[in-house]
Amino acid sequence: MRIAEIHLYRHELPVRGGPYKLAQAEVRSLSTTLVKLVAANGLVGWGETCPVGPTYAEAHAAGAVAALTEMAPGLLGAEVLPVPLHRRMDGLLHGHHYAKAAIDIAAHDLLGKHLGVSVSDLLGGALTDRVPAYYSTGVGSPEDTARLAGVKRDQGYPRLQVKIGGRPVEEDIATVRKVWEVIRGSAMRLAVDGNRSLTTRDALRLSRECPDIPFVMEQPCNTLEDLRKIRSQVSHGIYVDENGTSLNEVVTAAGTGLVDGFGMKVTRLGGLHPMRTFRDLCAARNLPHTCDDSWGGDIIAAACTHIGATVAPELLEGVWLAADHIEGHYDPENGIRAEGGHIKRPQGPGLGITPDEDLFGAPVASF
Ligand SMILES: [Mg+2]
Repeated sequence: MRIAEIHLYRHELPVRGGPYKLAQAEVRSLSTTLVKLVAANGLVGWGETCPVGPTYAEAHAAGAVAALTEMAPGLLGAEVLPVPLHRRMDGLLHGHHYAKAAIDIAAHDLLGKHLGVSVSDLLGGALTDRVPAYYSTGVGSPEDTARLAGVKRDQGYPRLQVKIGGRPVEEDIATVRKVWEVIRGSAMRLAVDGNRSLTTRDALRLSRECPDIPFVMEQPCNTLEDLRKIRSQVSHGIYVDENGTSLNEVVTAAGTGLVDGFGMKVTRLGGLHPMRTFRDLCAARNLPHTCDDSWGGDIIAAACTHIGATVAPELLEGVWLAADHIEGHYDPENGIRAEGGHIKRPQGPGLGITPDEDLFGAPVASF
């Protein structure tokens, strides 16, 4: 099955009750890029990529459209099978995984529909139909964050991620301690995410002043070198998120014992095909990880849920959905949402969702 048409769309996803505050940014609305692949036999597949603003990663919305526009003419006529497709994309553009991921996800959707199987089947097979989600707070005051933690615990989320950074570390420590007062004794697991913002000095202080709280430190500092510096000095587990920019970094971080797990984004690695390899590498090293993305609507959410369903349950930290922070769904009927802190794996072939195309308006480019 070969690609006959490629259509690119841009769509705004306003943050509900925004802004959403991260250490380096406040986001009020995210610009997502959608890809519709049409095969020669008329079948359609959807992909998406949505950087959470221009400073979270080396990615931005206009860059996604530019990279896809650069590749699209060379992808017409390409086989939708993941191995030849990635080889073709790499022959057209170096890097830019986050843009390639939109094509990769659309190809998996298309292939699943063609074969009459779900994307999780394509990825090796689901181990569950009910995937655990996790909730991520923005950077907030100790009181507000602790209140939210209680609400999310009561809603059944098995895991909470508390965002910190971009302010004095004393406030971060107070926030983590206050949250722990609320969730202690529940089964809720805790991750504290610095989004690259802490100095090694402050990361060490956070760990030393909270020795009794069993959180994992997610991407506290900016580089792998920083993490290497603090690794032997902290008593908390360290997860890499933003520094896991390719399978090469993943192999290095996992292979040198630098990390205890990963926060991983499907689009950062280049889509579901590399994500599958990542899943298997983590399984070989017994490393827990998330399966999520920086932001996005139902298409990204469905992709994350499908790969999440194929991860050994004891290693899956959860799937994060932007749906908690945005209004509405692309698929009004089968949109992806967390209920009781878990996500139902979409049924049906491909991604298992049908976006309402009218929402996206006219394509910004068609090939
Ligand atoms: Mg993170």
